[in-house]
Amino acid sequence: MKTGHDDRILIINAEVDGRGGTTSVRTNGDRIVAIGPELSRAPGEYVVDARGGMLLPGLHDHHIHLLALAAAHGSVLCGPPAVHRRDELAAALHRAAAAVAPGGWVRGVGYHDSVAGPLTRDDLDTMVADVPVRVQHRSGALWMLNSAAIAAAGLEDHAGAAVSAPPGAGRGPAGRPDGRLFRLDDWLRERLPPAPAPDLSAVGRQLAAFGVIGVTDATAGTGPAEAELLAAAVIRGDLPQRLTLTGGPELAPPEHPRIRLGPVKIVIDEGEPVEFDTLVATVRAARTAGRAVAVHCVTRAALVLILAVLETAGGEAAGHPSHPGDRVEHGAVIPPDLVDQLVERGLTVVTQPHFITERGDEYLNEVDGEDLPWLYRCAGLRRAGAAVAAGTDAPFGDPDPWRSMRAAVTRRTAAGNLIGPDEAVGPAAALALYLGDPARPGGPARRVIPGAPADLCLLAEPGPAALRTLSADLVTLTIAAGRIIADNR
Ligand SMILES: [Zn+2]
Repeated sequence: MKTGHDDRILIINAEVDGRGGTTSVRTNGDRIVAIGPELSRAPGEYVVDARGGMLLPGLHDHHIHLLALAAAHGSVLCGPPAVHRRDELAAALHRAAAAVAPGGWVRGVGYHDSVAGPLTRDDLDTMVADVPVRVQHRSGALWMLNSAAIAAAGLEDHAGAAVSAPPGAGRGPAGRPDGRLFRLDDWLRERLPPAPAPDLSAVGRQLAAFGVIGVTDATAGTGPAEAELLAAAVIRGDLPQRLTLTGGPELAPPEHPRIRLGPVKIVIDEGEPVEFDTLVATVRAARTAGRAVAVHCVTRAALVLILAVLETAGGEAAGHPSHPGDRVEHGAVIPPDLVDQLVERGLTVVTQPHFITERGDEYLNEVDGEDLPWLYRCAGLRRAGAAVAAGTDAPFGDPDPWRSMRAAVTRRTAAGNLIGPDEAVGPAAALALYLGDPARPGGPARRVIPGAPADLCLLAEPGPAALRTLSADLVTLTIAAGRIIADNR
């Protein structure tokens, strides 16, 4: 495998924009400098023979959580498709507990209530009693702890009496902590044994193999410490992709050619008290910082709320117009009566079509029948004039964007059921969900043209065959900012 600083690359015999299999593309540094029918090799150029394969602008994952993905590599999978039943969960946690170093914790991820209901400490204690265990719900919003973990985190004193707990910590009868911690990641992290810095190089390699040349880390809690970790991984080259950071209005990542500041992330959670004025103030702070907003929005009510917030934030002062990069993250439920407002506000929906495949069979049981046609929509939004892009939401979704594209085309659950078939898009449109500019995810697809960044993904097949398959197996070469970051040839 040849990867590294290839300052000048000449790709020959490629299919670009549907034009034959004989096109050549030349890069120099981080730019595409020439495209022609048959460019000849210049001295010192590294030549790649595309053998007629389709050459794309590399994929950008518009919504991912890098640190959580790195942590997931060392975690126990606690939900479908790895684990479906209570005894399977118990066995997986038990195995992990037996392997944990003294003083260590077991970290489980991807839990869903279909496995063993809403887990409490008592459930987890029957599976692992002597080692601290924490299991994350696949929504990412909830941790569930066993009694050993509750004690280690200081939620109880040694006599088992509850001590002061933060809001968000669940309680059972007589105020006894039930082990359920809602949106308390920061609180919990301070109470965990010191962990080695997460290794982002495995994440970087995995994404590169999918043809991913850039990611938008959409983590709400990204503060200076997280931004520094991520930026350091980019600078070291562990993360060879381009990185767009969200986080709060005050975030200021280091300057680097592959790092940019994206929208301010705003989370509206179901069942949480709504601070309308605080939301408006956050939107205004984002505007003042010259940034768009990315609003986590998975219910009908949250969508109504954010539309009102944007109206208020943008309506009063001319200095706060709606911003071109404003986005709704997930848009899990978008009923038809809200689509016009979405379009008027110029909001881009950053969706996860693969949740139809990964979670669809549970949606069929759990979601109000009236909402089923409006889950993780795509084609209907586009028909109405709304901009749509996609992100994997890994580790909460599968990190392979090609699976996500296939789901956008098929709208099939894992068991083969159809959900919202009118929302299916064709393969080219599915691919385009990952080709938008990170600053305008739902805008026009980036293109392979002279002057464009040297961000490329070469497939083993020409366009028609590649679009029929939409598979990561076809990725033969990934180039980010002029460097070969994956070579599967
Ligand atoms: Zn997310």
